[in-house]
Amino acid sequence: MKIRKNDTVLVIAGKDRGKKGKIRKALPTKNKVIVEGINMIKRHSRAKGQARQAGIIELEAPMDVSNVMFICNKCNKPTRLGFSFLSDGKKARICRACGEIVD
Ligand SMILES: [Zn+2]
Repeated sequence: MKIRKNDTVLVIAGKDRGKKGKIRKALPTKNKVIVEGINMIKRHSRAKGQARQAGIIELEAPMDVSNVMFICNKCNKPTRLGFSFLSDGKKARICRACGEIVD
């Protein structure tokens, strides 16, 4: 998966379309991401002993990685990412819009 934790993304599908957020968590095995403040769901929680309070909590639901687009931190455009190998053999992510290495 090309998108990682702390990347800024643009939501391109769903009820939060057009919003931007930061990746809180990437779930590569499920091809999903959790984006800060995006795709909020309400969960009703019951008190479990004394550890948890009963009530409604809001949290971010994981969303499909195909519903977000990476925003380049160099050119500030939503873009697709490519991979390139650096001279030291490391794999780096490349912005397809401006060609800069983004990590
Ligand atoms: Zn760029």
